[in-house]
Amino acid sequence: SFSALNLDELTAQRDRALRDYEALVQRGLSLDLTRGKPSGRQLDLASALLALPGGHTAADGTDCRNYGGLQGLPEIREMFGGLLQVPAGQLIAAGNSSLSLMHDSIVHALLGRVPGAERRWVEEPRIAFLCPVPGYDRHFALCERFGIELIAVPMTAEGPDMDVVERLVLEDPQVKGIWCVPKYSNPSGVSYSDETVRRLAAMPAAAPDFRIFWDNAYAVHHLTDTPVEIADLLALCAESGNPDRAFVFGSTSKITFSGGGVAFFGSSPANVAWLLGHMAKGTIGPDKINQLRHVEFLRDEDGVLEHMRRHRELIRPKFDAVDLILTKELGGTGLASWSNPAGGYFIGLDVLEGCARQVVSRAAEAGIALTPAGATHPYGDDPRDSTIRIAPTYPELDEVELAIAGLAVCVRLVGTEKLLE
Ligand code: PLP
Repeated sequence: SFSALNLDELTAQRDRALRDYEALVQRGLSLDLTRGKPSGRQLDLASALLALPGGHTAADGTDCRNYGGLQGLPEIREMFGGLLQVPAGQLIAAGNSSLSLMHDSIVHALLGRVPGAERRWVEEPRIAFLCPVPGYDRHFALCERFGIELIAVPMTAEGPDMDVVERLVLEDPQVKGIWCVPKYSNPSGVSYSDETVRRLAAMPAAAPDFRIFWDNAYAVHHLTDTPVEIADLLALCAESGNPDRAFVFGSTSKITFSGGGVAFFGSSPANVAWLLGHMAKGTIGPDKINQLRHVEFLRDEDGVLEHMRRHRELIRPKFDAVDLILTKELGGTGLASWSNPAGGYFIGLDVLEGCARQVVSRAAEAGIALTPAGATHPYGDDPRDSTIRIAPTYPELDEVELAIAGLAVCVRLVGTEKLLE
């Protein structure tokens, strides 16, 4: 580890890093590792969708070209119900974005009493959401937009630190929600243990209208032969006497087309009726043609899983390359640690405390764009300034390799400078 080096040795390492960094800047790279988007090749896997649907009639005879069917086509709800652990009758299939369903759920909770609530959330003196960190910046931005306070909760290898969650939810009736990405979480790749899910479902809450925003965005996005299964939150909530606690979200954004997929909301019958009642004021029904096209293309649950194996063939080599290069360049230095996720879209890179911002800005100067340091934390503020999110799916493999090798140089430079301070 570099922390065991004497001053001369460390200075020599810093000088070497500086020379490597200058050479890197000279190369004038232009690479982007910022957002978790599928690559063009991944989108090509679903290009048959562009010629579908072949027909326009749903299984029950519905003419998909017409108005109606607010809850979405039964056959697509059947297809995804099992994958998202929601009975098809309690699943809504909507437009192309699950984020917009999260947004609308919050707006409707602000303006229309959620089941169990004493009043609408706008009438509350203050509203707070728990945010396991590191987490997804768009969840945080959505809350900020509506003045919802964000309370950071540390993540462990099994999900959020449940001792902290249980205490805050029990003590503070203004805590109305928690953000969870329960499988292959963004960005650390952590999957929630059964015990974590059980405690979330069963914990006593001061707020009668407390909700778990269960964003299962990576439900089928496995990178290994042994898919992670998480416990069934909705069922556990019902068994624990908290049937209305879970809002489950998912989408095909990273299965078919990010800009033209199908998004889902699943919950208790009371919550589903509540949301449909509000949605009905804004639309007569979703794009059933797109839903039918997805049914024809993906066919059934096995069809979805088969399709995801093709994604995995394309992106697994990129994740492997990141791990290989980081291990080669930084292994044993003590300057960084990183996740080796079994699924999802991200790798979390932890650098020495107080170094993340500098690493990201050094990388930017060398033409390597990374998600801003701090984005993984509420208000963009990572108090330890150590978390960096790597999104390797979008660039081509050779670009990923170049970018990570360059990033490793930045970590070595900033890290050795830090140790010399
Ligand atoms: N939730 C998480 C955790 C994500 O990482 C993303 C996209 O990166 C989304 C939601 C966006 O979902 P959608 O495309 O369905 O709006």
